[in-house]
Amino acid sequence: MKVERMVTRVVTPPLAANAYVVRNLMIDCGGDAEFILRYLSEKRLIGKIKYLLLTHAHFDHAGAYFALQNSRAKVGIHEEELRISRENPYAYGMLLFTQVNPDFTLRGGEILEENRIKIKVIHTPGHSPGSVCYYDEDRKWLFSGDTVFSSGGFGRVDFPGGNALELVKSLKKLTELDVEVLFPGHDEVVEENADVEIKKAYEIARRILL
Ligand SMILES: [Zn+2]
Repeated sequence: MKVERMVTRVVTPPLAANAYVVRNLMIDCGGDAEFILRYLSEKRLIGKIKYLLLTHAHFDHAGAYFALQNSRAKVGIHEEELRISRENPYAYGMLLFTQVNPDFTLRGGEILEENRIKIKVIHTPGHSPGSVCYYDEDRKWLFSGDTVFSSGGFGRVDFPGGNALELVKSLKKLTELDVEVLFPGHDEVVEENADVEIKKAYEIARRILL
């Protein structure tokens, strides 16, 4: 319950990706600019989001980024996502990657501090080459995008730039973190003992993908 007060999950169209609002930070924004602007306006958050941190450039997570940028949020994404999204905007006959024009790029290892929230950027390639997770070590929170989900789920690796071995390595990296609460890019939040779900995802991925 403590978690719900500080982090708001917004399920966004068109593919039900989760966006999260943590004070004046936002992690992912969904693919529908009109929807997210309406949401922010209803919550009186227009102009108040200072940073939009993207987990990756797939359109269902990042497509509405410019709406946030136009309302003064600084947008950050991993540099590898810019490369892959420019090389492969389309996959499976649809526009898969958003051509993000960020305010800053990430490489992994950075620590972002804003309004008493300290977030470490962890590069977790596999689902896409510049996928990242955002980790709040003090609160043991992990925002995991499409790298790992609840109940031992993990991201698909068959989109451009996807890589099964990299995904397994990234999941292994995540098993080394102390995580209590998992905020995935789709489906439900894991409110406690998220370590267990991450370990499960790693074991399953290792068996299926390698
Ligand atoms: Zn994705």
